[in-house]
Amino acid sequence: MNTGLDSVVNGLGPVENGLLSEVIPGNISLDSMPGLTDVNASNNPCSAPSSPVGHNSSPHPSSRKAYPSLSPNLSPTKTLPHQAASQNGLASQEQGTSIMMPDSNSTRQAFIPCKVCGDKASGYHYGVTSCEGCKGFFRRSIQKQIEYRCLRDGKCLVMRLNRNRCQYCRFKKCLAVGMSRDSVRYGRVPKGSKTAEEQYVSSAEHQQYQVALEKQQLAMYDIILTVSQAHHSNCNTTDEKIKSISKKTFTLISKLDFDNTLGSTEHILEAHRCQMFQNLAAYILPTIQRVVEFAKRIPGFADLSQDDQLILIKCGFFEIWLSWMTKLFNSTDKTLTLEDGSVVPKGELDIVYTPDIVSDMFSFAQSFGALKLNDTEIGLFSACALVDTSRPNISNMTMVEKIQERLREALKLQISRNHMSETMLFSQLMDKLRQLHTIGLRHGQLLGWFRERWYLIDTPPLFAEIYDIRKTEDD
Ligand SMILES: [Zn+2]
Ligand SMILES: [Zn+2]
Repeated sequence: MNTGLDSVVNGLGPVENGLLSEVIPGNISLDSMPGLTDVNASNNPCSAPSSPVGHNSSPHPSSRKAYPSLSPNLSPTKTLPHQAASQNGLASQEQGTSIMMPDSNSTRQAFIPCKVCGDKASGYHYGVTSCEGCKGFFRRSIQKQIEYRCLRDGKCLVMRLNRNRCQYCRFKKCLAVGMSRDSVRYGRVPKGSKTAEEQYVSSAEHQQYQVALEKQQLAMYDIILTVSQAHHSNCNTTDEKIKSISKKTFTLISKLDFDNTLGSTEHILEAHRCQMFQNLAAYILPTIQRVVEFAKRIPGFADLSQDDQLILIKCGFFEIWLSWMTKLFNSTDKTLTLEDGSVVPKGELDIVYTPDIVSDMFSFAQSFGALKLNDTEIGLFSACALVDTSRPNISNMTMVEKIQERLREALKLQISRNHMSETMLFSQLMDKLRQLHTIGLRHGQLLGWFRERWYLIDTPPLFAEIYDIRKTEDD
């Protein structure tokens, strides 16, 4: 027997004519996204697995790819002659090495610019020639949870005069020019406190390992930032946006505009259910576009073939919607508040989705909410829900696997910093992903019922496409 999801994917047929495929390449400004290559260029699934990271090595930080292997900007290779010594040990980066010549009283000392903002550099900090301001900013950024976001799509120029204006772009620039977290973790070591033995302990091998580890972590920060930014721009239920939602009573039940030829009570009930599904669809519809835009910004996603992108979006849409809506489920009142404030009673959702699924949706929302994730973490979680290797018919599994793995690593890193004492949280989140997936599968099966009654349903075309509900006899 076909599961609902099988038919979701089997219905993929004429992708090139579909609305979703129009939405995917068209409505998103590619140049606004870090390092995205042309979607159409990655149509051939066979060409992709060996180079999922693209080939963009533009010096502009916002177009730098997020992965270590191809990130030339990540390692601080250019150094001034008198700084060379400070690169030999990671420890020496912790304090910053003065780049002033010994006669620093001289007014003729060279002006060496901060690689981040161009202000006068005070030394070599976290692996990069930088000013005091950027040094402090980088330390604070790494120590606290990342909740930075940019109002201008991550494209701000970071200069001395405006460096405080956009933290997101400033932190991105710090990462792009090669600032490394390592020294932050070890904290400041006072001068002269190290024994000779400690200084020689780092063998070449150890250093190589450190460099590799560092690069990997930088790539993870980049993913965290990018996904966080994508989430904040597309999810309407972030802590900030949710404040402006004002609740209003609402019902999915509307007067049937069918004629009386429907006949039996059973048919009338069916028509009612379809109508309620259709009414709910109008409220879910805008999220489809936003989930697509969110997806396109997930590092690596746009490098997948268009067919694979569609499979992931179609199969994952409901799960992402649900994870974005969790804050709006109220288990006490037994209501779901839609993004525009309309409050739907659970009883009405029961009719649309069946009581079993709705109960699971409520209990998922409650237990997920109890984990108290911030918006960046919810964004990473929903990105993990999207890029899922268990979706059927993926053509380039290697690439999807890679993206999935990186996203999970990024979520793990974010969790480890922001929820340090909750050692089980990451595995709890993996459990939550499985629960969400199970609900998604059941919802997929349920759609079969609506697909059979397509003639009773008049949903907007994009909604019909994401759930493969035909619009006409010929579809
Ligand atoms: Zn600076
Ligand atoms: Zn910015």
